[in-house]
Amino acid sequence: MNINDILSVENLTMRFGGIVAVNNLSFTAERGKITALIGPNGAGKTTVFNCITGFYKPTSGTIKLRHSDGEWRLERLNDFRISKIAKVARTFQNIRLFPGMTALENLMVAQHNTLMRASGFTLLGLFGVPSYRAAEKAAIDLARYWLDQIGLLERADDAAGNLPYGDQRRLEIARAMCTEPALLCLDEPAAGLNARESAALNELLLKIRAEHGTSILLIEHDMSVVMQISDHINVLDYGVKIADGTPQQIRDNPKVIAAYLGAD
Ligand code: ATP
Repeated sequence: MNINDILSVENLTMRFGGIVAVNNLSFTAERGKITALIGPNGAGKTTVFNCITGFYKPTSGTIKLRHSDGEWRLERLNDFRISKIAKVARTFQNIRLFPGMTALENLMVAQHNTLMRASGFTLLGLFGVPSYRAAEKAAIDLARYWLDQIGLLERADDAAGNLPYGDQRRLEIARAMCTEPALLCLDEPAAGLNARESAALNELLLKIRAEHGTSILLIEHDMSVVMQISDHINVLDYGVKIADGTPQQIRDNPKVIAAYLGAD
């Protein structure tokens, strides 16, 4: 694992019965950069995310994460520890907001753990009460900060389910950012967005990288997003990495073009 890397996936294999969804895959993600995983449908991209975030236990291989808080072997941890201790956040292909809760409440839920810890201190005695209040205020401030970053501060009290689709997508990213992740894994954040919404998404992700230094791992089919914002791209086909490089290198790679067109 290189000194600049936050993530190193080494010889990862994930089988489901007779299906080899990910086959001896190795790639790295550099700290503070946007690393993309692309490939045709069924290439194994989401399975890689599920292994990194503890939803699946890999058949074999190692997943190393290293940042300022420490070093972890993610394939040995459960999803809770990966999220809360190793600070890996993710979004899903389908939107998973609480539609009946407000935009602000959705971002507060993401900070539930911090608040629960603070309420534990409350029970311990006199000094706990201000501690909880301070934690609650900090959580509201953080939620409002991220609502502002995605241009939704004015709609803080609207039900998440009533927001336009593109806003809901960005609200999900804001919710993940409220956990203050070191690694943010985004599964097709541009799916279903129109051109204007995709541009707003690009702007948000570039801002997260530039202003927060968050490392981003991105699965995306929308090539306008991938090519414009990725620092490095890994291409999967049938669970195998067939190419990696800069957007420029990937754009003209004949193997990549063949995989997308379904040629041999
Ligand atoms: P898409 O771009 O369509 O989302 P993907 O690249 O994310 O595809 P995966 O969803 O990782 O691909 O699927 C890779 C392969 O693994 C597919 O053949 C899929 O059917 C299979 N697969 C994924 N999860 C499971 C599972 N839980 N059980 C059985 N097979 C699975």
